[in-house]
Amino acid sequence: MTASNNYRRVGIMGGTFDPIHFGHLVTAEAARWEFALEKVVFVPSGRPPHKKDYRVSDPEHRYQMTVLATASNPYFEVSRSEIDREGYSYTVDTVHEFRRFYGPEVQLFFITGADAILEILTWKDVDRLLKECHFIAATRPGFQLNRLGESRPMLPVEGRHRIHLIEVPALAISSTDIRWRVQNKKPIKYLLPEAVEDYIHRQGLYRPRDCGVYEKS
Ligand code: ATP
Ligand code: MG
Repeated sequence: MTASNNYRRVGIMGGTFDPIHFGHLVTAEAARWEFALEKVVFVPSGRPPHKKDYRVSDPEHRYQMTVLATASNPYFEVSRSEIDREGYSYTVDTVHEFRRFYGPEVQLFFITGADAILEILTWKDVDRLLKECHFIAATRPGFQLNRLGESRPMLPVEGRHRIHLIEVPALAISSTDIRWRVQNKKPIKYLLPEAVEDYIHRQGLYRPRDCGVYEKS
């Protein structure tokens, strides 16, 4: 880690959060601890272009669930920046917005699952992105870290040290699975915070009539 310890450090955790679950929360907390981040800001997405295969829940529902899930952690915040922005949101736009807001003195750390980072690193503006922020990629079950190793030679040399890996406890939790469980009347207890579970049931989210058929991936 070449980052100087004198810099303030802020984590950004982007996601669809449909719904947010303990995989996201454990990852954010692990990153906060390991990289001495002063806080982690959760940024629920607008309507992401790569999730066209199912109807993403209303952004306000996803925002509310994220607020409920993070309320008990004083180091967690939720941003409306992508939800309130017109059109699709890309990580690069969000990082620029954070950079403008915090100024040059703050080091930004974008936290993702290791699967998501492979996608991000194939973008054409990855060089610029790596100048703006660090990446913390969390391993998740079934993901082979060596795939990230293989893609490393394609990365700009000066940016490689800005990609960090952390291991989180093996949480085989995914939002897709939770949606599938609700639709099939299976329990979701202990996969996500109780307040989020209550919200899902109260609002009737992920029921067949609301959302079409979810495929279990
Ligand atoms: P979906 O199943 O709809 O794709 P998801 O569970 O992957 O949802 P996202 O909102 O897409 O959740 O993920 C937001 C970020 O959190 C991504 O960077 C993703 O890689 C990461 N992530 C998701 N689930 C886990 C998990 N169980 N452990 C670690 N990271 C995770
Ligand atoms: Mg995902």
